Amino acid sequence: MTDYIAPLEDLNFAISELAGLDEINKLPGYEHATGDLLEPILEEASRFAREVLGPTNVIGDQQGCSVDNGVVKVPSEFSEAYKLFVEGGWQGLDCPQEYDGMGLPALIGSAMTEMWATANLALSLCPMLTSGAIDTIEIHATDVLKQLYLPKMVSGEWTATMDLTEPQAGSDLAKIRVQAVPDGDHYKLSGTKIFITWGDHEMAENVVHLVLARLPDAPEGVGGISLFLVPKFLVKDDGSLGDRNDVFVTSVEHKLGIHASPTCVLNFGDKGGAVGYLVGKENRGLACMFTMMNLARLQVGLQGLAVSERAYQAARDYAKERVQGQIPGSHESARIIQHPDVRRMLMTMKSLIEAMRATAYVTASAIDIARHTEDADIRAGALERSALLTPIVKGWLTEVAQELTSLGVQVHGGTGFIEETGVAQYLRDAKILTIYEGTTGIQANDLVGRKVLADSGLGMQRLLKEIAEFDASLASCGTDFESIRDAVATGRKRLEEATNWLLGKAQDEPAVVYLAAFDYLMLAGSVIGAWQMGRAAEIAHRKLASKEANADFYKAKIITARFYAEEILPRSAGYLEAATSDSSSAMEMPEDQF
Ligand SMILES: Cc1cc2nc3c(=O)[nH]c(=O)nc-3n(C[C@H](O)[C@H](O)[C@H](O)COP(=O)(O)OP(=O)(O)OC[C@H]3O[C@@H](n4cnc5c(N)ncnc54)[C@H](O)[C@@H]3O)c2cc1C
Repeated sequence: MTDYIAPLEDLNFAISELAGLDEINKLPGYEHATGDLLEPILEEASRFAREVLGPTNVIGDQQGCSVDNGVVKVPSEFSEAYKLFVEGGWQGLDCPQEYDGMGLPALIGSAMTEMWATANLALSLCPMLTSGAIDTIEIHATDVLKQLYLPKMVSGEWTATMDLTEPQAGSDLAKIRVQAVPDGDHYKLSGTKIFITWGDHEMAENVVHLVLARLPDAPEGVGGISLFLVPKFLVKDDGSLGDRNDVFVTSVEHKLGIHASPTCVLNFGDKGGAVGYLVGKENRGLACMFTMMNLARLQVGLQGLAVSERAYQAARDYAKERVQGQIPGSHESARIIQHPDVRRMLMTMKSLIEAMRATAYVTASAIDIARHTEDADIRAGALERSALLTPIVKGWLTEVAQELTSLGVQVHGGTGFIEETGVAQYLRDAKILTIYEGTTGIQANDLVGRKVLADSGLGMQRLLKEIAEFDASLASCGTDFESIRDAVATGRKRLEEATNWLLGKAQDEPAVVYLAAFDYLMLAGSVIGAWQMGRAAEIAHRKLASKEANADFYKAKIITARFYAEEILPRSAGYLEAATSDSSSAMEMPEDQF
């Protein structure tokens, strides 16, 4: 089993060159986020991920978690690692300076999310949820709640959860039933939430739940949902902890993967009502929760990238050592990395991972621009772009992670199927990523319905125009870049054709449109990936021409982009054909024939 070594060169490249850190640090409030600061942070985070978090990954998988006398138990190694995480101030890196965070952009925070998740996905979920809750409280809660809760959350001393799911309310949040009854300056909550990640534990002094619930007279549907902050321990006016609140874990789930992330059933109000405080306005809770959900969707996309990176590193290292067979035309024993088919698998992993990373970090920078620019037009453009890309990052990256973690096992042969190598864990852990935070089906519906059709395709057309304008830069790179240039242009045309098809069908054939949604999402991901790899190769070309250091990295980047153009982008033809097939055979099948 290999140690995780963070791909610092590629992380730095994605952040600085592709996502434009130098544009982000021109924004008010982000002036300190310079390249000089980035490098030592990446180095230190990579050391922390490798030395502290990484070694706990298999322990978590093997030991899992349990409930003992109403208390969730996680491996003691997790508690020790989390203590060091808090001492290192890592939670506050991209949190507001007002609450003692470092105030760095989401672009840099994304690199931490990626590294923590690559090192230990199950443990990384805990700080990931806390960061989303910090954002939500900062944007939507009262000053009193912010002052009482944010400092301890930003330090990592208190962690947080997001509590949406109930047995009858999964993808369909309109079905939420947990009740919140006004009671003086607060509310009393009662009911059950299921599948709550890190819903209880003793790694931190307090757990802050952000809970969707319904007031007694609330209208039906999503317009009747409100958001509440419900602490495990009540907090006194001076910030110290008071009584235990009426929210208790009753069980944790036994799962396919992320064994040591406690997935909890939480009961609220069994002893008279859990004290909760309104966040945002009554009946407007889902809109507030979307602050947390949108960030989480980017972060879960990053988890898809992370677990793929871990699988790739293991496969690459194994392929360099394992000796088996001969390469065609030779009688010498070969290491398996010499076999063409193994190279195909490794290059599939490497090229998709780099395209995923570029797409995710470009999305993070759009989020930063939307939040910090003072220019209304730029803000509108960045909001549009981040909203459009978020379901693609969540859906495409996590679907690709299924393929890449499976390839990680395949490169190992039979050894990969054996738990000791660790690569089976990455495959098992990856499966949840297409499910939580909105399944791929829900992301695809969001992309098609709320992002493309809702604005008559304008946001997508602006993105397509930007891809078209980039052609001139690729043309200037010479004939070596022909396949890359051709792939970006062909992919753009396919995405445009599918978008026009969707717009044409939306009015009269909504079922056909939603049948196409998954293929459209995968098409968009593979084309945007090609665009980003084209951008990466064009930058590498310029760096090589100006004889900058890291020539090997830039040469490899161009080869990787060519592989993506020649071997991965062709998948977009299949996605286009499936999306626009006009076939409704899936809808025609009688239910009793399934
Ligand atoms: C390990 C784990 C951790 C979790 N952590 C949390 C957490 O911290 N907080 C929290 O609130 N929840 C959490 N969840 C819940 C998770 O978000 C839900 O499981 C997920 O949203 C899907 O809901 P569901 O399981 O009810 O599936 P369903 O909604 O029943 O979906 C079943 C299938 O139907 C499809 N489907 C449903 N509706 C539609 C539609 N409108 N269009 C197309 N297809 C549709 C889905 O794509 C899926 O394939 C967690 C779940 C797990 C397993």
